[in-house]
Amino acid sequence: TAFSTLNALPAELLANLDELGYHSMTPVQAAALPAILEGKDVRVQAQTGSGKTAAFGLGLLQRIDASQFVTQSLVLCPTRELADQVAKELRRLARYLPNIKILTLCGGVPFGAQRDSLQHAPHIIVATPGRLLDHLEKATVTLDALKTLVLDEADRMLDMGFSDAIDAILRHAPERRQTLLFSATWPAAIAAISTRFQRDPQTIEI
Ligand code: AMP
Repeated sequence: TAFSTLNALPAELLANLDELGYHSMTPVQAAALPAILEGKDVRVQAQTGSGKTAAFGLGLLQRIDASQFVTQSLVLCPTRELADQVAKELRRLARYLPNIKILTLCGGVPFGAQRDSLQHAPHIIVATPGRLLDHLEKATVTLDALKTLVLDEADRMLDMGFSDAIDAILRHAPERRQTLLFSATWPAAIAAISTRFQRDPQTIEI
């Protein structure tokens, strides 16, 4: 199915997808994007390589108001490698949307340098849970204006012991938000995360 069947996508994004060689949607995108673009919560069982990053990326980019210099989207990832990969894909998708600032916040990078970058709030933060929680506790970042929250590779985040950090981060996020949950496997602990943090989610399995 062509991306152009999604009438919620702005023309700049559609033209860019074509240039990137994304001529038709992957199965995950075709199943998830209509609900995501309507602002609904979705929980998606999908593997790496399925095109899941563009599925949530197009959803969150569509909701960014670049004239508001506040953090509107947060993507939580299990590792710095994945966070870097997600940020790279978001930058590719956003290249014709002017002035969208995307920042990665991961451990292993000096805290002070990140704090300095945060003096001007990014529109989108891509983070690992531990380091983001440090910033929230030191009030160097705020999620008060968050519209979209993505939990990417949620099963791996739980395997790495980030369950408490995710709970704590979610306490800093506004009640009214869109929450998108992606996981390769679906153990009971992931179902519990969905129950705790999502509202009336649509389930997508590929
Ligand atoms: P992901 O599952 O998000 O890691 O994406 C896997 C790869 O597929 C990435 O290299 C994307 O750039 C690419 N990709 C995502 N969506 C599409 C699409 N609709 N058509 C072609 N390639 C895509």
